[in-house]
Amino acid sequence: MQRIKEYYQAFLAEQTPPGAIFAAKTENCRITAYKSGKILFQGKGAAEEAERWKTTGKILEPAAKTAKRNDLPANIGFLSVIGSDEVGTGDYFGPIVVAAAYVKKENIRKLEELGVRDSKHLSDKKIAAIAGEIKDWLPHSLLVLKNEKYNDLQESGMSQGRMKAILHNHAIGHVLEKIAPEKPDAILIDQFAEERIYFGHLEGQKEIHRENVYFSTQAEGIHPAVAAASILARYAFLLHFEQLSKLAGLPLPKGAGEEVDKTAAKLMLDKGAGFLRKVAKLHFANTKKAWNLAKSMKKHSS
Ligand code: MG
Repeated sequence: MQRIKEYYQAFLAEQTPPGAIFAAKTENCRITAYKSGKILFQGKGAAEEAERWKTTGKILEPAAKTAKRNDLPANIGFLSVIGSDEVGTGDYFGPIVVAAAYVKKENIRKLEELGVRDSKHLSDKKIAAIAGEIKDWLPHSLLVLKNEKYNDLQESGMSQGRMKAILHNHAIGHVLEKIAPEKPDAILIDQFAEERIYFGHLEGQKEIHRENVYFSTQAEGIHPAVAAASILARYAFLLHFEQLSKLAGLPLPKGAGEEVDKTAAKLMLDKGAGFLRKVAKLHFANTKKAWNLAKSMKKHSS
């Protein structure tokens, strides 16, 4: 009951009916919680609103029971959380973008209404629209690791996992600075490596943020802070991707499939092999495949 009240904090009504602990009114639904333990959902959005609490219970229960999720606090979905996520790690073309965002518990509902919760199936257009709605007021940090720097680091022997860990740690640090002296109840990282490995990657870093840090796969379904970070990162990635496409003079494909090999081969022939350093992650197998393709294309044309 307390959790539900916190969730609707921004929508609480000043007056409560007799026998009620609290009442709240959202756009489509009136919620009244009674001392007896009963909660009434009324209005057009009632079914949907009540369903939220059934679903939430289902999601939170296994999360709390699974040790793999590093014993997340059972109520983490209702806390004030810094979430972080990254984009671009599996794409041959384009940078890696890592974002961290802070969502206070009283803003959880607002973000969900903006459609922030499930970003996996959002179109690029929707990503841009939501990013536009939140970027000016939501405390966040965006870090872009451009291709040239990425290739330098990779060639110096740094693994992609280490790059990601360092970027997450930095982004979280920036957000902690932005919101200080306020502190989040928890920090939730969309898991790309086990906790032990993540902190291993960070050895030697000046400042390592460990306090209240939790890891979970599919963390964007657990707290909208991770979903917001994911949306902001994807939006930044898309903007950079557009710029790189302009630089290349053709639309770059995402991912790391055959279309990518063909495009990379074309760029090698048109712009020289050195150009890829600025737009691609050179250590991917695509570089070699593109090289072979380019050689055979050259032969056929001569
Ligand atoms: Mg992720």
